[in-house]
Formats: sequence, C-alpha cells, structure tokens
Amino acid sequence: MGYAPQLYCAYTIALTADGILSLRVMSVRTLLLLIIAVPALLVGGAIALGVTIPVPQWGRDYVLRFVFDPGAQPLELPDIAGPDDPDRPLVVIDAGHGGRDPGSIGQAGTSAQVLEKDIVLALALALRDQLVEEGGIRVALTRDDDNIVTLAQRPEIARQLNADLFLSIHADSAPTRSDVSGASIYTLSTEASSEAAARFAERENAADALNGIVIDGQSAEVSAILVELSQQRTQDDATEFAALIEREGQGRVKFHPQTRRSAELAVLRAPDVPGVLFESGFVTNSDDRARLSTQQGRQEYAEVLARAIRVYFARRAQR
Ligand SMILES: [Zn+2]
Repeated sequence: MGYAPQLYCAYTIALTADGILSLRVMSVRTLLLLIIAVPALLVGGAIALGVTIPVPQWGRDYVLRFVFDPGAQPLELPDIAGPDDPDRPLVVIDAGHGGRDPGSIGQAGTSAQVLEKDIVLALALALRDQLVEEGGIRVALTRDDDNIVTLAQRPEIARQLNADLFLSIHADSAPTRSDVSGASIYTLSTEASSEAAARFAERENAADALNGIVIDGQSAEVSAILVELSQQRTQDDATEFAALIEREGQGRVKFHPQTRRSAELAVLRAPDVPGVLFESGFVTNSDDRARLSTQQGRQEYAEVLARAIRVYFARRAQR
C-alpha cells in the first residue's frame, strides 16, 4: 500500500520532457519494490501452504532417504547388562538374522517350522542371563527382539561399545541331509583377515588407536602395518576363544566332525574386537532342533558358552 502514491507520481512526471528520466528512476524503484514484494508474497504463500499441507515433513523424509544410506545411519547402541563398572570386561552377543531375514528354516512349511532367527535370539538371551547371574561380566546384545540389524552394524556395535569380545550365534541347515548335525565354531580366515585389515586401514585412515596402539598421525604405510598387527593379535585372541568353546563344550555340546572352521565372514571383520561365530547346530536335524528349541537344551549351551567367556577373560586379566 505504501508505494501506490509513488506509482501515481511516476505517471504524472512522465508527461514532462525530462519526466522520462524521472519515470525511469521511478520504474526502477517500482521494479525493486516488485522484486522484493513478489518473492515476499510467494514465500508468504508457501508458508501459508506449509501450514495447511505438511510440506516440511515431506521434505525431511525426502532428505533422510537420500542423504543417509542404511549403513551410514548413526548406530543405536544397546544397553549394557551386568555390573555398572567400565573396568569389567564386556562381551557383545550377536543373535544372527532377525526381522525380515529368518535365516535357516527347519521343517519348512509345516506347523512345527523352526526359524534360525528365533532359535539364536533365545540362545543369546539365555547366555546373557547366565552371564549376568554369575556376575562380573558386562553383556550387550546386538538385538534383543525380532529386529533387523545389518551385517556391518553388528561388529560396529561391538567396536563402538569398546567390547572385549564378540560372539555371533547362528544355526546351520542342510536341507537335503537331515542326518548332518552338530555345532561348529568359525573364526575369520587368514586371507580374509589381512584383506579386512588392509581395507580397514584404508577406510578409517588409521585415525584411532587399535588395541592400545596409537596409529593417529602415522603414514599410510605404517598405519596399514599397525592395523595388520592389531588384526593379527585380534585373530589370535579369537582363535583362543574358539578353542575354549570347543574345550568347555566337550561332552555337553554335540559338535560337527569338522568343529573348527575359518571363513570370510563380514560379521567377524572388526580389527580390534576378537570375534567368533558359533553355529549352534542344524535346524534341519531333529536331535539338534530338539536341543536348540527347548529351555533345557538352551541352558546347556548357555552354561558352556558362559564358561568359555569367563575363562577367556580370566586369562586376559592375568596377562
Ligand atoms: Zn545364520
């Protein structure tokens, strides 16, 4: 409203000889006003629209979906059970699969169908309860319900919690060989281990301390070597833990004839947290299934694994 008299002025001055100049000056002023006023009106309109239509929420959703890929989302770290003392050793127990990913399926399509994701979650919870009951060890679970956790997130949870040990629990299947049974214990293969070390060094650019070795500020070559050394020590510890599971399980857990194995397993790639993957048995074998899906059977596994974890930490404390 304030600029209406000026517009009127511009027209009257335009009638004189040098009024043309005046008109141009006034036009520029008018244009400037329009340049300010029109966007202001548009913004005002947009804000008005934003109030009636949930445009801002839309926008956020859009940005989230495109800016973060699932692996880049900040991790939600789980609660830690057990003593409220950071000096106590911490084990992260990882129940494999979950959510949309059922893992292996036993007796598929029948009413007695058994899903790996359920079996391993029950085992993980039983082991946590066993450790907490015995005391002295802190325990965290990568999942304590039927949620999906990505493969990359599982060891990353252990790393971010500064865990001392990582145990991933799974159950096998051999759909065409129902006689195949028994538990096996996996560690990361040597080739996969050094390859993972190299990749880790590259990715993290060695900005952290690994296993107490400060590698920040080192050259890329030196830090690659230090990461490799850290990885080697981590793998030695993992191998020792695997041997303890086998030892403690003698006579209590039925093992597969080839008990100890190594493979390129993404979940065991943390270069600074020793990790073992425990295949608890075959969901496709009736004896294993009975052991894995009863409370009594689970308790047996929980006691064996808890004892292996306890002995492992006791040895670490003496070093
Ligand atoms: Zn599995």
